Amino acid sequence: MRAVARTARVRERLAKAKNVMVITGAGISAESGVPTFRDARGLWKEFNPLDYATHDAFERDPVRVWKWYDQRRVNMAQARPNPAHRALAAMQRPGRRVFIVTQNVDDLHEQAGSKEVVHIHGSLWRIRCERDGTVLENREAPLSELPPTCMCGEVMRPDIVWFGEELPRQPVERILHYLLEGGIDLCLVIGTEATFGYIVQWALQAREAGAMVVDVNPRDTGLGSIVDVHLRGKAGDVLPKLLQETEPEVS
Ligand code: NAD
Repeated sequence: MRAVARTARVRERLAKAKNVMVITGAGISAESGVPTFRDARGLWKEFNPLDYATHDAFERDPVRVWKWYDQRRVNMAQARPNPAHRALAAMQRPGRRVFIVTQNVDDLHEQAGSKEVVHIHGSLWRIRCERDGTVLENREAPLSELPPTCMCGEVMRPDIVWFGEELPRQPVERILHYLLEGGIDLCLVIGTEATFGYIVQWALQAREAGAMVVDVNPRDTGLGSIVDVHLRGKAGDVLPKLLQETEPEVS
């Protein structure tokens, strides 16, 4: 099937959809200038994850870990939603639910105006104390105190899920509850390698709940045969086309 026909198929499904699930990864924010992890120019090419995004690394050298996150926060503070984030926000309308699950630690979906966003890997803008459980929103970039310290005296950590850690319970329960409700028309999986088993599992559950599963990515991903339609391209190009009323003229 040609790209135009694939886009038309998804556009048709979206036009009638009352319930849309969206799963996003780092790729959706790439066009906002936020580096992904695993691409050719991704963060992991330059840095070893085990030096920064693990609890061991934090215990060994919290200042080093915080300097890395502080730099990411400074960069992120400049980032603005791109046409992909805005297209998802524009999909919300009376009589249609758009439920977004994001692996991203930025807040570009919220900035674009999306109302129902579940963050499964935490937020770059929250800090947490492991001793007394305090969680604070903190948007200082750069941080004035590095590492930030809790009122109880403990060094606080980024409220981000590190390698080897479990997903936070509350967002996962929200997602499972949503999936159990069923009746999902469309599941857009955007800008993720789908390396984590739970991403594949949730897309599969959405499919079982009736969804057409659409992968929006320039490359093939770990979703494999779950995908009904692969819209190959950049999210910022592909998603706005799903909202166009008529077929764009082919020159
Ligand atoms: P990843 O880096 O593993 O993969 C990025 C994916 O995006 C690739 O499949 C790539 O082909 C695709 N991609 C690149 N540019 C794209 C574009 N313009 N449009 C559509 N797709 C594009 O990212 P992942 O699968 O999300 O990995 C998960 C981890 O990355 C999560 O833990 C997440 O917290 C973290 N992460 C988040 C951010 C952020 O918050 N913006 C940034 C980097 C990494």
